[in-house]
Amino acid sequence: MAQRLLRRTCQTCKGSGKGSTTGIYAGRCEKCLGTGYYGRIAVYEIMTMNDELRKRTAQNADAVTIAEIARRHGMRTMIDDARDKVGMGLTDEREIARVLS
Ligand SMILES: [Zn+2]
Repeated sequence: MAQRLLRRTCQTCKGSGKGSTTGIYAGRCEKCLGTGYYGRIAVYEIMTMNDELRKRTAQNADAVTIAEIARRHGMRTMIDDARDKVGMGLTDEREIARVLS
């Protein structure tokens, strides 16, 4: 299993970074201080073993081959997981580009 941390889109300002109209944070979201991000979320990639993978691993297949087989058997990559989380408003494409590319 692999895991990476992405910045979580601020749920208060929905990533806009804009918030309060008064006070010291005027024009900026008080929660994320105008960055548009607050906290972290983890994205995962889980490889489930199957007969073909077991066989190829035993034959010392290289990592690229193993990854191809895993994908063919429906493994979801970290990017797939991250895209779902973008859809849920938890992070954004910029974070995928920054961390996973
Ligand atoms: Zn915010």
